[in-house]
Amino acid sequence: MNASRRDFIQKFALSATVLPMLSSVSAAPALQYLEQKDGPVLRVALMGLGGYAQRVAEAMQSCKRAKITGLISGTPSKLKEWGDKYKVPETSRYNYDNFDKIKDNPEIDAVYVITPNALHHDQVIRVAAAGKHAICEKPLAISAKEGQEMVDACAKANVKLLIGYRMRFEPNTLEVVRLRETGEMGKIKFFQGQTGFVAGDPSQWRLNKALAGGGSMMDIGIYAINGARYMIGEDPIWVSAQETKTDPVKFKEGVDETIQFEMGFPSGAVASCLSSYNINHLDRFFLSGDKGFAEMWPSTGYGPIKGRTHKGDIGKPHTIHQTTQMDAMASIILDGTKPHLPVDGIVGVQDLKIIEAIYASCKTGKRQTLDLG
Ligand code: NAD
Repeated sequence: MNASRRDFIQKFALSATVLPMLSSVSAAPALQYLEQKDGPVLRVALMGLGGYAQRVAEAMQSCKRAKITGLISGTPSKLKEWGDKYKVPETSRYNYDNFDKIKDNPEIDAVYVITPNALHHDQVIRVAAAGKHAICEKPLAISAKEGQEMVDACAKANVKLLIGYRMRFEPNTLEVVRLRETGEMGKIKFFQGQTGFVAGDPSQWRLNKALAGGGSMMDIGIYAINGARYMIGEDPIWVSAQETKTDPVKFKEGVDETIQFEMGFPSGAVASCLSSYNINHLDRFFLSGDKGFAEMWPSTGYGPIKGRTHKGDIGKPHTIHQTTQMDAMASIILDGTKPHLPVDGIVGVQDLKIIEAIYASCKTGKRQTLDLG
């Protein structure tokens, strides 16, 4: 693709993300976002060169405001292969023992942590201690306490902590949020979020409580929690949940297979959600208000995301989520832009508080009251 065509597509994609925000927030932050999108480039080191990092690395090749300038991995052959492919010099390749040395590397502004969930806590704290901004994959950590420690460490080091909630930059998603905010759907009464897939290989880290922190809720159910919050536009005040386990050999103690959960919101709206590691084709959001509805199906996969409302198809253009996310995050970090839907660490901590309450409800059989602070 030639440069001008790529520029056009990127500008178009970025505008599609930003435009919905214009009508629903004060003009200043959105204008600032548009004006500064051609600004400086965020230099990012990727940590954990696995499946999702591969997707992020490829998507970043189309970024206008972010580029890969560092790599962190425990596998020397991957460092060489990725270093050659993405033109990262040997001086900016690190392993898990020596990556604190990024402190002295002026070519790295931020580290994107894309390792198994339980490792995020210590790794982000080390990134902050090295004076670099941290972008961390979801879930932020494996407990709200650990997540809060990460938020505190980054605040103390005066660096930003962002969470890789890519849907918060997706144009169709933002359009539903805009329609709900402008009152198109009237008073919101109900949200349904179905998220899940069949987890394959039983030996993968996702099914290991020590590395994953839980099961489907930590990995995929978190999208339904997140979706309920941005689709309804409120934070839940209670949850209740029930767990079903059909395969206790594959899904061991502490690794949830399927959880149904309900959430209540201050306005009286309710959400009914499903999170599963043993049911396929679960990728659907439904929002109902007294004047209209929105359905997104698929709602959180890599896309294209499809949505319709009581008025017809939403039809915003498909963007590569990780490209849009990384350009937007560069603007958040370098320009101080405030995204319409926040992606700072505290949002990740709040989601972990909700997950903990869901797990507590599964154990006790009782509704849990939430205080997200
Ligand atoms: P993966 O297994 O494909 O990759 C994990 C990487 O971490 C591998 O390169 C592995 O070598 C490395 N690693 C370092 N220490 C490890 C250890 N002690 N045990 C196992 N692996 C170790 O996993 P993934 O799918 O890339 O997931 C990584 C993170 O990204 C997770 O937090 C996951 O939730 C998140 N993720 C997010 C999305 C999204 O859409 N936002 C999608 C997939 C994964």
